[in-house]
Amino acid sequence: LVERMRPFGTTIFAEMSALAARTGAVNLGQGFPDTDGPAEMLEAARAAILGGHNQYPPGPGIPALRSAIADHQRRFWGLEYDPDGEVLVTAGATEAIAATILGLCEAGDEVICFEPYYDSYAASVALAAAVRRPVTLRPDADGGYAFDPEELRAAFTPRTRLVLLNSPHNPTGKVFTRAELALIAQLCVEHDVVAVCDEVYEHLVFDGEHLPLAGFPGMRDRTLQISSAGKTFSCTGWKVGWVCGPARLVSAALRVKQFLTFVNAGPFQPAVAVALALPDAYFHGFREELRAKRDTLSDGLRKAGFDVRRAEGTYFVTADITGLGGVDGVEFCRALPERSGVVAVPTQVFYDDVDAGRRLVRFAFCKRPEVLAEAVSRLTGGA
Ligand code: PMP
Ligand code: GLN
Repeated sequence: LVERMRPFGTTIFAEMSALAARTGAVNLGQGFPDTDGPAEMLEAARAAILGGHNQYPPGPGIPALRSAIADHQRRFWGLEYDPDGEVLVTAGATEAIAATILGLCEAGDEVICFEPYYDSYAASVALAAAVRRPVTLRPDADGGYAFDPEELRAAFTPRTRLVLLNSPHNPTGKVFTRAELALIAQLCVEHDVVAVCDEVYEHLVFDGEHLPLAGFPGMRDRTLQISSAGKTFSCTGWKVGWVCGPARLVSAALRVKQFLTFVNAGPFQPAVAVALALPDAYFHGFREELRAKRDTLSDGLRKAGFDVRRAEGTYFVTADITGLGGVDGVEFCRALPERSGVVAVPTQVFYDDVDAGRRLVRFAFCKRPEVLAEAVSRLTGGA
């Protein structure tokens, strides 16, 4: 194994899902829904498989999907992209993140990201032999998470190549505010840095609003927006993602993507195009369903004795374990199946500064109501 991949063991998601399978615990660890996405989309996939969409699609993605992505960006975010050259279909957001970093970073370039961060960020930065520069999100007095603007300013150096931003943010559930985004945009412009925005939870915002960084002054031509059908349409196993941005940046990602996967799954592409064109009611209904689930789980965790942070977006809620006698999230999560029959994920594994997240754990609430009710009942001792 190469030196730069040695620090990366089995992902926490694999470890915790295996623990859930072994113990029969309710799995609120790995984030994936336990229901299928919209019927129109599933039907379109079936029709595509039976209708001959089973050979290599075009490298950047089928035209119908690239057009649907561009239409979606215009409809929801007022951003214009040319489906020919400014939109690239990828094997999930994960490949979009890797291809972007590999295509834009020289060895030794620095990538600023907010920690805790989604685990593939650190690995993709390492594969590029680039250097990650975390800026820490800390629980604030307001029940959410915030970063220190001075820490962000100080993270920019002459070697900074990218800022990697994830809002709505996994694992904290934070939705970055307009003022925070304005500062990030201003610093990107000032230091001539490219922003890579992981917006996979763009439609899952319960408090505040999703504001794409690409819409801030000076950002359209230095930002790559990444998203994925997996989250918005509950099909994480399809691995259809995309990246939109100026042609010179998108083509850098495509240069790499063509040698990572060449193309990705043919029949799912027309189906995701159908899903992206669903009426607003779908997106609204999905969000409201998840809002109710967020409330159920947050209330239940509070009853069980957790200090629950506000989940403004995503399908995750984080909580501090101190009130339950917990001092270390990893130990706590390894013991939780035995103690309560539930699996969660320790947030500290997403930090370089492990102490900042030592007592935080993450629960996924993208589960059927009866599953959440069962988890809450187990965590509160049947109360
Ligand atoms: N980014 C974030 C923040 C995520 O939570 C996820 C899903 N776990 C991904 C990227 C990966 O998305 P995909 O499954 O489409 O590769
Ligand atoms: N994005 C999901 C999570 O954060 C799952 C990611 C994965 O399994 N790699 O839980």
